[in-house]
Amino acid sequence: MTASRIRIVGDPVLRQRSEEVTEIDERLVRLTEDMAQTMYEAPGAGLAAPQVGIKARFFVYDLQDEVGAQTLINPEIVESDGEWLFDEGCLSVPGLYFEISRPKRVHVRGIDLDGNEVDWEADEFAARLIQHELDHLDGVLLLDHLEADQRKEAKRAVRQMMMGERGPDELPERSRRRLSRDVLFGGSS
Ligand SMILES: [Zn+2]
Repeated sequence: MTASRIRIVGDPVLRQRSEEVTEIDERLVRLTEDMAQTMYEAPGAGLAAPQVGIKARFFVYDLQDEVGAQTLINPEIVESDGEWLFDEGCLSVPGLYFEISRPKRVHVRGIDLDGNEVDWEADEFAARLIQHELDHLDGVLLLDHLEADQRKEAKRAVRQMMMGERGPDELPERSRRRLSRDVLFGGSS
């Protein structure tokens, strides 16, 4: 099995709203396996279907516990509270990390790959991951959560990255982070 290519910011598929999954079939199962492999190779902690060009509401994730890769289908946040600042990255915006404030806890509902209902009250890292991946299903990127001045700098960095003018190692100091277990969703240098 070969890993999928991860779509990078600028690809229109990242800006579209994905559609509900109506059937869990063999094809979907294989797709999630392929996506999990892609996620591990990147490496990242989560990967949403639009990031590999598929407009469907599901994502794979690994919370770095013993459970391994899991899939959440048709996720919906039914409640959120608190506030938490966290350095967030994205495999579709490689090499850039931004401190973003989001709710600290979320209550999410969805279904797993076996068709069982998931009812999950997640906190901190897990809550952040869910919110980030769910954004992808709505065509939202972490750049959309930045303050105006931060966004300007980010857009410039993204443009330069896309034009191949500089690699992740040459990005502005503020946008770089060392590879750490705590850095979310993606990206090593
Ligand atoms: Zn992402």
